[in-house]
Amino acid sequence: MEYEPIIGLEVHAQLLTKSKIFCGCSTAFGEEPNTLTCPVCTGQPGSLPVVNRKAVEFAVKLGLATSCRIAPYSLFARKNYFYPDLPKGYQISMYEFPLALDGFVEIVNQGQKKRIQIIRIHMEEDAGKLKHGETPETSPFSFVDFNRTGIPLVEIVSGPDIQSPQEAGDYLRKIRAILQYLEISTGNMEEGSFRCDANVSVRPKGQKEFGTRTELKNMNSFRYVEKALEYEIKRQIAVLNEGEQVIQETRLWDTNQGITISMRGKEEAHDYRYFPDPDLVPLRIDKTWVEEIRSSLPELPDEKKGRFIRDYGIPEYDAEILTSTKAMAFYYEECVRLFPEPKTISNWMMGDLLRELKRDEKEIDQSLLTPSHLAEMLSMIKEGTISGKIAKDVFEEMYRTGERPGKIVKDKGWVQILDETEIAKAIERVIKASPKQVDDYQQGKDKIFGFFVGEVMKQTKGKANPKLVNDLLKKMLKE
Ligand SMILES: [Zn+2]
Repeated sequence: MEYEPIIGLEVHAQLLTKSKIFCGCSTAFGEEPNTLTCPVCTGQPGSLPVVNRKAVEFAVKLGLATSCRIAPYSLFARKNYFYPDLPKGYQISMYEFPLALDGFVEIVNQGQKKRIQIIRIHMEEDAGKLKHGETPETSPFSFVDFNRTGIPLVEIVSGPDIQSPQEAGDYLRKIRAILQYLEISTGNMEEGSFRCDANVSVRPKGQKEFGTRTELKNMNSFRYVEKALEYEIKRQIAVLNEGEQVIQETRLWDTNQGITISMRGKEEAHDYRYFPDPDLVPLRIDKTWVEEIRSSLPELPDEKKGRFIRDYGIPEYDAEILTSTKAMAFYYEECVRLFPEPKTISNWMMGDLLRELKRDEKEIDQSLLTPSHLAEMLSMIKEGTISGKIAKDVFEEMYRTGERPGKIVKDKGWVQILDETEIAKAIERVIKASPKQVDDYQQGKDKIFGFFVGEVMKQTKGKANPKLVNDLLKKMLKE
């Protein structure tokens, strides 16, 4: 039987406010444990939460940027569960009345645009962090750091519209891009400021009803989300093919083993005993304020993509990738400003640069090779100082060391050979060494021409100007 997967994603993103969601404590990352706390965020009796206006503004921004309807009335609720990093014994979240509803984002899958529905966006507070003793022998204790407790989060719940791990990755990248463009979250998955849980089920192709789903947790990179989904889809199909049932449960992704492991039975909403938080008044969001926020929105990924296509004349495929992060779009525009040949730059970025970054699992803003490096190198090709072939080596060297292209070319002696006599000498050597190929060529086997170009390039260590090589070869092969 053929099965199809159905995936829905829940994304949690920390908001970049200076203070926490219900108190004035700082949200700084990496401080001494338990130094950024107060009676409110440590859940002391009698302390009262007050909502952070900036956090609400940021959440509204996100709602608008994802085409959601902003609810005029939303309500904070208590989500009850006990966990040591949640000192109140409940988390303040939203339940029946979330902040934003019914939006969507667009992804491009194999050239096809697809809308992924956003069911709701709500606000909540983050929990603290547990640190377990390295081993039971060295430390039998677990430690808790409440610095993170009370950092504002938005939870973005997608519809069950995602049909492959690849689409899940595309969706997450789009959400992250929107957060970054809005400057309301770092979107950093490794630091935990951007987290994702996935609901996944499979069903026989053509069936309307959903299969039993499992929830996947603990995937702290985009790659792991895709891998965990791939694994889990295969696992569920295998279970069904055995004639067994998929059990509704929460499963953890195990990075080392590359598998998902059963953690616990899945909670239902009623397990949390949600009820409106009596310490917080309902959130009434004024229409004028919403419109004010709307008019302050920056250029978003899809708008920027449209502008790149229009203004720079690059294909949609390129524009989609180049606007996929704010840093990448900035990098691209900076390059074009310095060297106004948009398609050439796009080719180098999408080919060489992204390949290197992907291999090193780096983001573009960590690259030693800056827009000015790339622009300088492209100018050197244009002026004929280096050949396009040598440029590949220069590129790698710049990427590795951050050295300027001019210095690299000078140090390595990679300056292009423009001297016709020198090139002609190399051609003579090649002709002498390949009598059979010369014969074939002269009999009309034009295809073999590339062979001669390659040989001459070998002779000149890739430094010969390709146009001169071509022209001279054509002339000399006829003689
Ligand atoms: Zn506090």
